[in-house]
Amino acid sequence: MSTAKTQEYTIQGKPAASGIAIGKAVIINSESKTITPTSIKKKEAADHKERFLESKKNLTAKLEEMSGELKDTTTAEIIDTQQQIIQDPEIEKSVFDIIDNKLLSVDFAIYQTYCTFIERLKESGSELFRQRIIDLEDIRDQFIAEVCDQKNLKSIKKGSIIITREISPTDLVSYYEDGATGLIMEKGGTTAHAAIIAKSLGMPCIVNAKRATKEAVKNETIILNADEGMVILRPSDKTVKSYKAKLKAQKKASKLTCSNDFETTDGVSFKLMANIEFEAELDNAAKSGSQGVGLLRTEGLLFGKRVRNSPAEQQEFYEQIVAGTEGPVTIRLFDIGGDKNARRPHKEANPFLGWRGIRLLLDEKKLLRNQLQAILTVAGKYPGRVKVLVPMISVIDEVRQIRNEIEKIQKDLLSSGMDIDEKVPLGLMVEVPSVALSAYQFAKEVDFMSIGSNDLTQYTLAVDRGNERIHTLFQHYHPSVLKLIKMTVDGARKADVEISVCGELAGDEIGVACLFGFGIKELSMVPSSVPTINKLLCSKSSEEFTELANQAIELSSSEELEQLYGEWK
Ligand code: PEP
Ligand code: MG
Repeated sequence: MSTAKTQEYTIQGKPAASGIAIGKAVIINSESKTITPTSIKKKEAADHKERFLESKKNLTAKLEEMSGELKDTTTAEIIDTQQQIIQDPEIEKSVFDIIDNKLLSVDFAIYQTYCTFIERLKESGSELFRQRIIDLEDIRDQFIAEVCDQKNLKSIKKGSIIITREISPTDLVSYYEDGATGLIMEKGGTTAHAAIIAKSLGMPCIVNAKRATKEAVKNETIILNADEGMVILRPSDKTVKSYKAKLKAQKKASKLTCSNDFETTDGVSFKLMANIEFEAELDNAAKSGSQGVGLLRTEGLLFGKRVRNSPAEQQEFYEQIVAGTEGPVTIRLFDIGGDKNARRPHKEANPFLGWRGIRLLLDEKKLLRNQLQAILTVAGKYPGRVKVLVPMISVIDEVRQIRNEIEKIQKDLLSSGMDIDEKVPLGLMVEVPSVALSAYQFAKEVDFMSIGSNDLTQYTLAVDRGNERIHTLFQHYHPSVLKLIKMTVDGARKADVEISVCGELAGDEIGVACLFGFGIKELSMVPSSVPTINKLLCSKSSEEFTELANQAIELSSSEELEQLYGEWK
């Protein structure tokens, strides 16, 4: 419920993607676990029952698709159990009973039905039954998300500002395509996945805006000033007028384009690339002046409303990206797990330290091979344009296994008469400190390495990148992180292997000044950062960057580096 304030007031958050937006508030409670009873009219009952049946169908299809993909492990068994629960006629009977006889909404009917079943299992005392509780809870939450998605995704109007606890990247892209112009999240840090996508789409965004979903009133005009990390609720006419002027100025300034020079003042050249995940971002990437796609995240193909995981669907997507880009495209294999785990059936105590990225792919060979087949087919059509990047590497054997898989698939493609790119480069992400510490040994195994500073920071400082309570500890240019990056550069150089950075640090001015000073000449970032980073690198000599980087590494804190950078700039 909203408070009864009538005067203009502000809520603070943390800037995650710059800019200003003025628009109507759309509130999405994507994570409300306790659903409150909402009365409905008798004539609405049929519609609510229909929504239940529609969600049941969608959920069944999604699980079927997953179990088709995951034949190799016990995951398929878990999905089977979940399917049985969904199809249980007792559940449907109870949901319909609550809708028809108590005249309560479908989300609450599902919630109450599952909670009753869960309570019964808890009371049964049987260990076997207790183990099913987690499945029931999971299905209940997926069901509720499904019926709520149907409701929420319909209601958005052009120019709306989304207010939510958290949101999946695919839902965010849907809202963007429907005309949403800003994002306010209660949860998350600035490198949470949705925040990165908002930045890439050029959507102003703040995170960590506590109580925003409670304070805002739907459909009321609000102002999001993401540059200053705040939302203005109930703005006065005077404030709206002054922000409209600011918005106009912002639109003019955003026309700032990238100069065609990609050289420091002493003539050292560099490459600036774009990080993207969806076709919707191609346009911004092209306009930004970037020289290719340095990181194509692919998880968006697996989650959200439109799952596109067959080799043919994937191939179409990769081809569209390569054809829509000038220059190389680095395609990263699925980095499922961590915070990109939305609807996976496994619950883990430490998802960021668990079954993620390459670890999952090597267990789920069908998923891996389908993806490699699609990527390598496109690489064969566009020789010299496609690179393959592997996420979450922590031990050398993982790289060797992937190389073997690639060789096998290349052979199969050849023997079926397809063209292949024999030299398709294989690279690994440096995200785990073990790789940075033994960089030379890892570098010898690959053609290139790309530093994922988001995860490298998370694993070095032991700070969950999405946890708002500790977000101030997420310091990606902390001297300890910079030391690991310097070690990685040294190892890559010794092995004569290309090294680049594709985490958010590559779009941060302080970070970039140090990275370039260490000798990193290729940086990949959200498209909107390209002009600013280009301007910075063109403004000084390579020696000046080296001097700054050498000093940075000797400092004891990020604050000291901020001060040093202020004086240096
Ligand atoms: C990173 O970890 O820096 C990275 C680029 O990968 P992601 O943000 O997708 O985890
Ligand atoms: Mg990462």
